Amino acid sequence: MKFDSAPFSVDDSFQQVSGEEALGDGRDFSPAQSPGQSPLEPGSAQSHTYHRYHIETQTTPDIVPLPPRFRVKVKKHRLIGMVLKELFTFKGNLPVVMSRPCVYGVFSRPVGGLAPREELCVGCLRCTVQYPDMVQIHPNPERQLLGDSFVKPEYVDTIQYEARTGRVPVRGAGYRGAFGGEGWDGLWTDMSEIVRPTRDGIHGREFISTAVDIGSLPAFLRFDDRGEIVGPLPTIMMTQVPFLFDVPATASIHPANAAGSRLVLRTQAGCKENAIQSESLFQIFSEAARQIETLVEVPIPAVVQLSLQGSHIVPLITPTTWNWLDRLSWSPCMIVLDGWDQEHYDALRHRFPGSIICVRVPMDTDILALVQQGVRVFHLTANYRGYVGDQFAIDLIRQAHQRLVDAGVREEVTLIGSGGLILAEHVPKAIICGLDAVALDVALAVALQANFKGECVDRETAPLSFPRLDRAWGVQRLKNLAASWRDQLLEILGAMGLREVRRLRGEIGRCMFQKDLEREVFGELGSVILSEPKP
Ligand code: SF4
Repeated sequence: MKFDSAPFSVDDSFQQVSGEEALGDGRDFSPAQSPGQSPLEPGSAQSHTYHRYHIETQTTPDIVPLPPRFRVKVKKHRLIGMVLKELFTFKGNLPVVMSRPCVYGVFSRPVGGLAPREELCVGCLRCTVQYPDMVQIHPNPERQLLGDSFVKPEYVDTIQYEARTGRVPVRGAGYRGAFGGEGWDGLWTDMSEIVRPTRDGIHGREFISTAVDIGSLPAFLRFDDRGEIVGPLPTIMMTQVPFLFDVPATASIHPANAAGSRLVLRTQAGCKENAIQSESLFQIFSEAARQIETLVEVPIPAVVQLSLQGSHIVPLITPTTWNWLDRLSWSPCMIVLDGWDQEHYDALRHRFPGSIICVRVPMDTDILALVQQGVRVFHLTANYRGYVGDQFAIDLIRQAHQRLVDAGVREEVTLIGSGGLILAEHVPKAIICGLDAVALDVALAVALQANFKGECVDRETAPLSFPRLDRAWGVQRLKNLAASWRDQLLEILGAMGLREVRRLRGEIGRCMFQKDLEREVFGELGSVILSEPKP
């Protein structure tokens, strides 16, 4: 993350937390880059040289094994009978008798099919085709318990693969799902093989920028008689990816971890605010955001108590945590005010004249009224399923964006949005609808192998339980996820012929909306033909 080279009014003299401090004594999964050295850090060897943005990935295995995707049911008495028969037929030729029908090694134990290694099964059905009366492959019902009704098991599977490998998931058999549905599935990106001048960008031969600007940009500069600028200056910071880390959900921690962790969120009255939040969770988010060169929103009590500091740290201030500002000893690049309050907003602007002040409000808020009060940066929130009331994020973002366009102030304002963004494809879709950047929430928890103890609807009530968190492991998992999502964003930008993600904002000509198409095609006949049938 860096500030634009123009003489913007944001103070850029922030100190980075040292990597050793942030990573504690955990192992480093990122060998190619010193965790304590930001390439943009003043004084670093690379601070005055060009560096091509890149996220280092490294295979980071799950610490909680996922249930196998398939159950391999073998009729053992038939298998033993067949082996005995083949022993006789092939005159004791063991290599022939012991050859297995599975190239994935499911029957590779010495006892073969008597104890199949189910975790290796990919469901190709090769074995069933050859021996239908001996082996059957069934979906594992345990796998269906992952996630909840919104974060489906296949989404958990995908996110964990991305966090584990840092790679783009590829399904060799092609897409076999529905071509429409609720939420983000009702928006299709419109790509063509014909318009692919930036295809090289995907493979690194050209550069497609995923950087976005956050801040306020006056429509024009004002000068006095002597040519000096007298009006407001642009106040902009840049993140290298269009996704930020939202405040972690209220979470319960594995008992073994909770015992060793300090509780970090307390109100002035000394009561626990939220249930339990782990120190290591904030440290992981913070360090990952620093290395990815993006931002992380952290409640101000946690910022103070954990001594988090740096241009990537965005303190979140609520009316109940306002007094913690007195204990903040540095000036953040950006501060988020939770909920609209004119008095608090003015106080923040006065107290931190060089900082970007963002206001966090629900997605259905009339933000034009707030723009007229001087707000230029918004974090628009929906619940963890992307809804505010019965309206989904797609409609809410489009409305907010269009109102600013109609008022002629869209270029002056930054819109960040969160809620319901759990797959890589949701990022460009939200940007197409009109956001500048998104903030990630549940996807980060899934990458850290959080367990769903029930329906996860919003931050306050999310029943997420984290395993014991190793900091270096967690940082690398989030870096892997970010790298995978960025690569998928590059795929979409490349396929659209766009050289930077900034140009994607509000580009609804690059997408199709299912409900619009169904209305055009089917009129009053209905709108369920393209959707997955409801159970
Ligand atoms: S379905 Fe395919 S991967 Fe699974 S056990 Fe059979 S042959 Fe092996």
